[in-house]
Order: sequence, then structure tokens, then C-alpha cells
Amino acid sequence: MAIERIVNTTPPDEGDVDEQELEQTLRPRDFKNYIGQERLKKNLQLAISAAKKRGEPIDHVLLYGPPGLGKTTMATVIANEMGAQIRITSGPAIERAGDLASLLTNLQDGDILFIDEIHHLNRTVEEVLYAAMEDFKLDIMLGKGPSARSLRLDLPKFTIIGATTRAGALGAPLRDRFGMTHRLEFYTPEEIARIIKRSAKILGVKIDDQASKLLAERARLTPRIANRLLKRVRDYADINGDGIVDTDVASQALELLEVDKLGLDPADRHLLSVIIEHHGGGPVGVETLAALTAEERGTIEDFYEPYLMQIGLLERTPRGRKVTPKAWQHLGKKPARTHPPRMQSRLDISVD
Ligand code: ADP
Repeated sequence: MAIERIVNTTPPDEGDVDEQELEQTLRPRDFKNYIGQERLKKNLQLAISAAKKRGEPIDHVLLYGPPGLGKTTMATVIANEMGAQIRITSGPAIERAGDLASLLTNLQDGDILFIDEIHHLNRTVEEVLYAAMEDFKLDIMLGKGPSARSLRLDLPKFTIIGATTRAGALGAPLRDRFGMTHRLEFYTPEEIARIIKRSAKILGVKIDDQASKLLAERARLTPRIANRLLKRVRDYADINGDGIVDTDVASQALELLEVDKLGLDPADRHLLSVIIEHHGGGPVGVETLAALTAEERGTIEDFYEPYLMQIGLLERTPRGRKVTPKAWQHLGKKPARTHPPRMQSRLDISVD
């Protein structure tokens, strides 16, 4: 069993403690309990078996995809399946090359270093990291000025698992150092329903099949959101009912949370409305959208857009973001009339 140690992570805000505890409790620890992502699991299982057979650590792995889809969870599953220790840190927490050096020199053979939000590493740190990933050596400078000299340290054979919401934001030299790069896909509603049932069992929540299905349809195809909704619905059932979650309780709680049939919350609807009301449905640039909604550009790109695009409400075009007719319809608004392509005039038609 892998020992999980949290290293160098910034302390959570007061309000996050509950959420973090919940994530720890519900986090699957092996492939059997990690629901969905079948192709990814197959690839990783193969790589793990091969590495074990050779008695070597697994190659460096880069996992990318929207938040809450299970990247951190997969890293801990890999560690568990390898029987390796995992250390968890994040790009913003490694500020200087020295921070990275101390993390790397404290690793042991076969250890896994998980770096969340790896696209936030700064250039200097990134350069030290890719040299270390390539030949397990660390070059450090001792002293300053004319008396400075460099020292090359041997590092243990470790594995980096990097996670990012944007593979494109990673420099090519770093990206190339990963032996495996995998994208996590959105889950199907059926998989989300299975995750909800598993979490309900762990939390001791009594929920029927119909209610799990209902929650699954509104969870943005994302396990983290599914677990969050389950918790909110449980609170509602405890206070307003007998603690049992059935469809009535689930739909009342979802109504209170203002989560609609497509899983959109008020912030999603606001984003779509802004495009419709201020820009006639788009296209509109993401910076303008950020200013109009008072959201950070990164939040729009990493969190809102992937799901809205997945369910066909939003499109990215070279000229900006555009809502689809389905979005107009969902918000109960009349789409602006789109003109059919101009008929070719007779004079345009050439006769051979
Ligand atoms: P990410 O690192 O991609 O933001 P996490 O790995 O932190 O996402 O996943 C968020 C939560 O969702 C986890 O605590 C875990 O409980 C749950 N989860 C994620 N993926 C799965 C899965 N495949 N099966 C079951 N639960 C999952």
C-alpha cells in the first residue's frame, strides 16, 4: 500500500477543509474502484505491468483535462498499483529551482512526484525539471560570481506525474519528457450514476436508483461535481425529510441549488446570457467575456467552456465564442435570424 504524503501544498482555506476531507474519503485507491476512463486505465495497466516486470519505475505520465475528472485520483491509483510512495505538490507551490531540488533530492527510488497544475511552473524551475526527468541528474550552482561552480547530483529513479487543465500551455521541451500523455474524458451519465452510488455507500447515504440517475444527469459529467451534489442533497434530505434521498428530495434540493436539467448553474446561464444579450449570440472574445462576467479568463477556459462545449451549447470559433441554437432554446430566448447563404446570381454561374 502506498503511503501518501502531502508535500509543499498551500494550506487550504477554512471553507475548503470539509471539501478536501470529502475528496480524500471518496477517492478510489485502485483501478477496480476507479470508474470509467476505460481506455486510459487499459494503457496505464499495461505500462504498470511492464514496468513491474522489468523492475523499473513507470515512465513519466502527463494527465490533462478539465478539473474534477480524476487526475489526482489517477495519480494515487498509479502509485498504489505500483506499490510506490507518492508525494503531492503543485506548480504554483514550487517557486524556485531550490524548492524543486529539495523535493527531488528527498525522493527514493521508485517514488512518484505528482505535480498538479504543472503548467504554472516557472521557466527556471521547468528547465531544472526536464533535465532531471531525462537523465535523473540535478545540476546545481554553488556560490556566485567568479568562484561559482556547478555540481551534478545523481537522483533516484523517480516518476513524475503531471496534471494540467491545459496541455497546450506546457512548453514543448517539458511536454516531450513525458513518456505518456493522456487526456481524461468527460464521463457518461451512467458512469456518474455508478460513482454517486459508490460515494453514497461510503458516506452512508440512502439514495434510490432514480435519484442517482437524476443527480448524474445534472453533475456536468464530472465526478467532483457529482460528489458535491450528493452531499448537498444529503443535507437537504436530513433537514427536510427522513434522510432518504428519493427523486422528490433530489429534485427539490437541485431546484434550491438552481441547477437546471442540463446541469447548468446560475453562473453558466449568466455566461451564455451575456453572449446572447450583449453580443447577439457571439462571436465574442474570451477577454471581453471575462470582463462582462467578472470571471477570470482561466476559469472560463478551464471550467465553464469545456462542459458547455461538450453538451453543444457553446462553440469556439477563430473569432471568439459563440452560443449555439440549443443554448438560445435552453434559455428560452429566440435565436437571432440567421440568413441563408446568398443565392448565387445567374451572372455568377459560368457556362462551359
Ligand atoms: P482532478 O485532479 O482532475 O481535478 P480529482 O482526482 O481530484 O480530480 O477528482 C475529484 C474527486 O472525484 C475525487 O475526490 C474522487 O472522489 C472523485 N473521482 C474522480 N474520478 C473518479 C472515478 N473515476 N471514479 C470514482 N470517483 C472519482
